[in-house]
Amino acid sequence: MRLFRPILSLVLILVTTLLVSCSSPSQAKIPTVYTPEKIAQLQPFREPVATAREQMETLKGFIQAENWTNTRTFIHGPLGQLRQDMNVLSRKLLVKDQKPAQDLAKELFGHFERIDAAAKDRNSVIAQSQYLEAVKDLEAFLNLVPSNS
Ligand code: ZN
Repeated sequence: MRLFRPILSLVLILVTTLLVSCSSPSQAKIPTVYTPEKIAQLQPFREPVATAREQMETLKGFIQAENWTNTRTFIHGPLGQLRQDMNVLSRKLLVKDQKPAQDLAKELFGHFERIDAAAKDRNSVIAQSQYLEAVKDLEAFLNLVPSNS
């Protein structure tokens, strides 16, 4: 029994591995292009991120007006949900696009943190340059997501 049990579990592992490798899709079946169905499925998840791109114009206005209270409130309020939205959307992209999308989201939030810090310091130059960087990353992210509009 002492010897039998490890052998039994080894056999089980082998059988499971075999079953998994037979049933899992082969490398060739991992989609590498967006089908029209996939693009349609992505749209509801793309929408809040595209809306955030539009909302960035409001943020720009606050920064240009040096309205630091509204700048900070806006980053934590209306744009606060964006991180979650981008993470969800990233995971729905093709495998090859997921990592670049996640990296861009991470970058974007780094810029938001620096805008927030600049607003605290009332540093208009840094706030404006970080804003431009943030827009670049958000647009690059959106460019990874096919749109049907
Ligand atoms: Zn960046």
